Amino acid sequence: MSSGAPLIECHECGLLLLAPDIRPGNTAKCPRCNGTLFGKNAHGLELPVSLNFAALFLFVIANTFPFITFEMEGLEQPSILISGVIEFYGKGLWQLAGLVLIVTILIPLIKIVGTLYVLGPLHLGFRPPFAIRVFRFIEVLRPWAMMEVYLLGVIVAYVKLKDMATLELGVGVFAFVVLIMLVTWADSTLESHTVWEHLGPRAPKSPFPRTRDNSLIACHTCQLVVHTAPAASHGASHGTSTCPRCGDVLHRRKSNSIARTWALVATAAILYVPANVFPVMTVIMFGSGEADTIISGVKVLFEVGMWPVALLVFFASITVPVLKLCGLCYLLISVQRGSRKRLKDRTLMYRIIESVGRWSMIDIFMISILIALVRLGSIATIEPGIGAISFAAVVVTTMIASMTFDPRLMWDAAGENGE
Ligand SMILES: [Zn+2]
Ligand SMILES: [Zn+2]
Repeated sequence: MSSGAPLIECHECGLLLLAPDIRPGNTAKCPRCNGTLFGKNAHGLELPVSLNFAALFLFVIANTFPFITFEMEGLEQPSILISGVIEFYGKGLWQLAGLVLIVTILIPLIKIVGTLYVLGPLHLGFRPPFAIRVFRFIEVLRPWAMMEVYLLGVIVAYVKLKDMATLELGVGVFAFVVLIMLVTWADSTLESHTVWEHLGPRAPKSPFPRTRDNSLIACHTCQLVVHTAPAASHGASHGTSTCPRCGDVLHRRKSNSIARTWALVATAAILYVPANVFPVMTVIMFGSGEADTIISGVKVLFEVGMWPVALLVFFASITVPVLKLCGLCYLLISVQRGSRKRLKDRTLMYRIIESVGRWSMIDIFMISILIALVRLGSIATIEPGIGAISFAAVVVTTMIASMTFDPRLMWDAAGENGE
């Protein structure tokens, strides 16, 4: 560490430190909580630009070519990627149609196009108009791009149907798999920290402050540490000062974090009841139907001996939501009681809660695929159930709850970040 290094704040524990000098391709870790501070691009911008170009091409193929064809009793039911969305909408479940459309098609597309829009010109040496706004928008959308979760939904749906009918995988599925690999690769070669340094002023190279005061605020979006005037830092909680690099409103901590997170946790806990009581789908075979709840769906998978998939769905749909709710309650209470114990473990727990939440969407995606494929009238039809709306609401609400919680408050409450 040189004394001329820019200041950086760990966004998980709030530790203020001089940015360590790291080599390209590496990431800097927080010495106190082991959270990731930032990474440095290994390959410049050329590789992420090329990968996103290829991803855009595959996105078009995955969305236009046949996805899966369902064959039973001589009848065929083809589907494309968007078929599930159309079926949800057609059955009046517009909330689910909108959600699946947004997280599996719209946001991934915006992410690819937006990244190309910002990085393409930057790579060629100029900054496109609104680059900062576009990149900030991509950063906000990032956790809501769920193509890889959808792919697991496809696998579960496939396993459920393969004994009952013939399934033919189309070009769309293969393009979709390659698309996910490309996007994952592209994301791993692109460190937002590097992009922000291309886009705006670097963090000021100031001497390390002797005492930690509230005038230093780290931007939530681009991580720039900003020295605000004392009056402005007071007003920051009311959103008066903005980040000079990305333009986002500066808050020392996420605003009203505790109250908002409690409200969202309570909402999710209430929704959890109808999500498990009401059926999420009904399978109608030769005229007689059987309604499945989340739990009975998992039970069926266990009974027919599909252990790996049954365990996967059990973990994603039952364990994860409960653990998330209990975990967030525990973290919230620990902040409110000013607990000083196990700060590093609690921060790790938060990291896990934040990253696993999206995988609970598997069941919703599986239902969207099943209803798109199995619609052969009286022979075999799968209808979505009202429980699916509550379940999707639980997943979305807990995801927002974990984003609203500010883990730095745990360290603040323990007196680790000074007064
Ligand atoms: Zn930290
Ligand atoms: Zn910023």
